[in-house]
This record gives sequence, structure tokens and C-alpha cells, in this order.
Amino acid sequence: MTASNEQRIALVTGASRGIGAEIAKALARQGRHVILSARNEEKLQEVHSQITSAGGTASVVVCDVTDHTALAKTIEDIAGQHKRFDILVNNAGITRDNLILRMTDEEFDQVIHTNLRSVFVACRAALRPMMRGKWGRVINIASVAGIVGNPGQANYAASKAGLIGLTKTIAKELAAKNITANVVAPGFTQTDMTDILPQQVKDFVLTATPLRRYGQPEEIAAAVAYLASEDAGFTTGQVLTVDGGMTMC
Ligand code: NAP
Repeated sequence: MTASNEQRIALVTGASRGIGAEIAKALARQGRHVILSARNEEKLQEVHSQITSAGGTASVVVCDVTDHTALAKTIEDIAGQHKRFDILVNNAGITRDNLILRMTDEEFDQVIHTNLRSVFVACRAALRPMMRGKWGRVINIASVAGIVGNPGQANYAASKAGLIGLTKTIAKELAAKNITANVVAPGFTQTDMTDILPQQVKDFVLTATPLRRYGQPEEIAAAVAYLASEDAGFTTGQVLTVDGGMTMC
């Protein structure tokens, strides 16, 4: 809640499962009204039920982030309906892994379009209503791959590194408007995205992770909830890595 006790409005993309679903639940526990967005309406409704049965408030908006016109309109509609737009969590993301010598233009473009261009579009649409409210939180979900690279993920690593530059620029441009912008960069987290990886990759990750375990979506969500909180008002332009120590130097 705000100092004036008005409920803040948060949009979480990719909220139908995995990390996004847990981010939505964490923000709802903070007292935000959470708008859950993704393509799969049935799964979004499941997350909605979990939030409301735990005493939170949420609503569902089906939106494919690769439809950039629809994405911008979704944000404008939310801001119009609620007369405010406070928190934007750009979490929807995909992988299309291939070694660079075999990677097609389509694989590269699809990942950039989904993971990076959509975030630019969403931020551009959300920042104006945040400015009107004189308060805002942008949290973009990148990856350790965007910081240290990862074989087979030239497209994905480029998209996530791009998110870091985009977020830092937003932080600088909007700081005077009391809007913060930060990145959470997860390491290997147990979700559908990582379930499909070969066992040898999973085994390697464990040996490369000082905490010797995989991350859980709730642990990524906790970092996002902090950055979205009133307490995080002096934190902007940062990359919070949540990776079990994998990329520490
Ligand atoms: P996930 O289990 O595969 O879930 C991806 C989410 O994104 C789903 O809710 C999916 O919903 C949504 N999504 C995908 N394409 C979309 C589109 N075109 N339009 C709208 N929504 C779309 O992935 P995750 O592991 O939770 O990953 C969440 C974020 O964390 C991603 O940005 C990912 O890159 C990042 N990340 C994950 C890990 C990890 O180890 N898991 C590590 C680092 C970073 P629908 O299918 O219903 O549309």
C-alpha cells in the first residue's frame, strides 16, 4: 500500500507459470493489485485463483508480448481503467538455443523480438502513467547469460544484455520523476524453461553453482518484490543477480 493507502497497480508479463507466477503472488502478498498477463488464459486463471484464495487481488489480461501494438494498448487500457500504473515487471521470455554457427536469423530475431523489443515497448507505454503518478518501479528479468554469456545462447544472451542497457538508461532518464528501474538476473532456476535441458547441462550447472542447488522461482520473486517495494526507493539502475553464487568474482 502507499502512504495514502491506495492500492498500487502492478503488471507482470509471463505470469502464467514459473518465475512470473511467483512474482505475481509475491506482489499480491505486498498488497498490490496484480494484473497477470501471458498467452495461456487457463493457466493465468489458476494463478489468479491462488492469489485471491490467499486474500490478494488480481486480474487477468491475455496478451502476447510479441504483438507490440496489443502490448502497448494493454498497458494504456490498464492505466486508463485504474487511473494509475505503478509497477511493471517484464518477465515473459523465451529461449531458442543453438550454437552461433548454426543459429538462424529467425531464431535470433524471435528471441530479440520477444525478450527485448517487447520490454522497450512495454516500458515506453508504462512510463507516462508512472510519471503522472509521480512514482514508478520497472523491474526487468534478465539472466546471468546476459552478464557472462552462455554457449548456445547468442540470441538469448544478447537479448538479456540488451535489457541491462535499456534498464540503466531508463533509470537515468526517469530518476528525476521518482521512477526506479532495475534488473533481476536469475541463475539456473527450476521451471519449464530449464526442465527441458539435457541432464549433462543440469549436472554442470550444479558443479558451477557454489550453493550446489538450483534456484526456486520463489527466490527470484523475493528479489523482485524487494525492488518493487516502497523500501527500495533509493535503488535504481542496478542488476541484482540471484544465482547461488555462480557468477561471483
Ligand atoms: P517459463 O517457465 O518458460 O515461463 C515463461 C513465461 O513467459 C510463461 O508465463 C509464458 O506464458 C510467458 N511467455 C512466453 N512467451 C510469451 C509471449 N510471446 N507473450 C506473453 N507471454 C509469454 O520461464 P521462466 O523460467 O519462468 O522464465 C521467466 C523469465 O526468467 C524469462 O524472462 C527468462 O528468460 C528468465 N530467466 C529464467 C531462468 C531459469 O533458469 N528458469 C534463468 C534466467 C532468467 P504463456 O506460455 O502462457 O504465454
